[in-house]
Amino acid sequence: MKFRRFFFIFHIFSIFILAGTLYAKEPTTSTSTPQLTFGVIADVQYADAESRGTRYYRKSLKRFEDCVRDFNSHKPVFVVQLGDIVDHDSTSFEPTLAIYKKLNMPAYHVIGNHDASTAFTANKTPAEYLGIKKGYYDFVYSGWRFVVLDATELNLFITPASNPAYVQAKAMYEELRKKGASNAQPWNGGVSNDQLVWFKNILAKAAKAQEKVIVFGHNPIWPQGSHNLWNDHEVFNIIEKSGCVVAYMNGHNHQGSYHHKNGIHYLNFQGMIETADTTAYALVKIYPDRLEVVGYGREPSRTLTFVNRESPESGLPLSNETKTGSLDKDIGNNAMKSK
Ligand SMILES: [Zn+2]
Repeated sequence: MKFRRFFFIFHIFSIFILAGTLYAKEPTTSTSTPQLTFGVIADVQYADAESRGTRYYRKSLKRFEDCVRDFNSHKPVFVVQLGDIVDHDSTSFEPTLAIYKKLNMPAYHVIGNHDASTAFTANKTPAEYLGIKKGYYDFVYSGWRFVVLDATELNLFITPASNPAYVQAKAMYEELRKKGASNAQPWNGGVSNDQLVWFKNILAKAAKAQEKVIVFGHNPIWPQGSHNLWNDHEVFNIIEKSGCVVAYMNGHNHQGSYHHKNGIHYLNFQGMIETADTTAYALVKIYPDRLEVVGYGREPSRTLTFVNRESPESGLPLSNETKTGSLDKDIGNNAMKSK
C-alpha cells in the first residue's frame, strides 16, 4: 500500500515537472533580455544575370525576400544592409528596394562599390537610388550610437577624371600601389578628409555622452587584406583612440571573418549572394556586457564580450549602464521609410 502511495505521489510530481519543462519561459533577467536587437545583411548583389563562379545573382532576390520576412517575424528595432545590395545595371535597384521596403522597421543603407557602379549605369548617384541624403551619417537607439561610413566617397570607378575627388583618389591608390599594399585595388575606395573629421567629431561627442558605438562600413579596415578600405589605417586609428567603439561591422569580402584587437571587435559578415543554395544574414542582440550575433545560413553565431574602457578624449569612464526603452528621437534621416 505504502509502495502504491509512493508511486501515486511520484506520478503527480512527474506531471508537475513535465508541465514546468514544457511551459517554462526564458528567465527575464538582465542578461537574458537584450537591450536592443538589430538585423544585418551584407552583399545581396542582386542582378537578373547568369551565375558567375560562386555568385548566384538571380537567386539572391528570393533569399533577400525570405530574410526580410524572417526579420519581420523577429522584429529587430532596425535593419542595416552593409552595401552592394545590387549588381550589374540600374534595373536591379527596383525589385531589390521593393523588398527592403517590406520591412516593418527602419532600414538603413551602407553604400557599396557595386551600388555606386550600378547607379552609374543610369548616370545617378547611389544615394539617389537608395533614397538617402548622404553616404555617411549616424543614428541612436537606446543609448547606442551607430555610425555609417561611406567607403565609396573616393573611388576610381565612377568619379570623372576632371573631378578633384578623382585626383585625391588616384593619389591615395597610387601611393598604396607603390608600397605594394594588397588593398591597392581599383574596386576598393577611400574616405575623404572631410568624412574623417566628421567621424572623429561624432566619436568624441559619443564618448562625452558616454554612449557606446558600433560603426558600419562596406570595406574591412583590420587586419590588412586585399578588400580593405584604402585609408583603413586612418579609420582604424580614430576608432582605437575614441574609447567608445565596441565593434566595426562590414561586408565586401563575401567569405566573412572575425578579428578582435584592443577590446574592439572587427566583424565581416558573409555575402548573401554566395553559393547555389545557402543564405547568410544575422541578428545582433546587445546586452550590457556583450553582443550576441545570431547567424543564419552560413553566418556563424558568436558571442562578443566587451568591457568598460576609459575614454582618452573625454577622460570619462564609459558606463556599462545603457538605458533601455523608447527609441531615441534622433534615428537619423537616412532610414528608409519602410511603410
Ligand atoms: Zn563590395
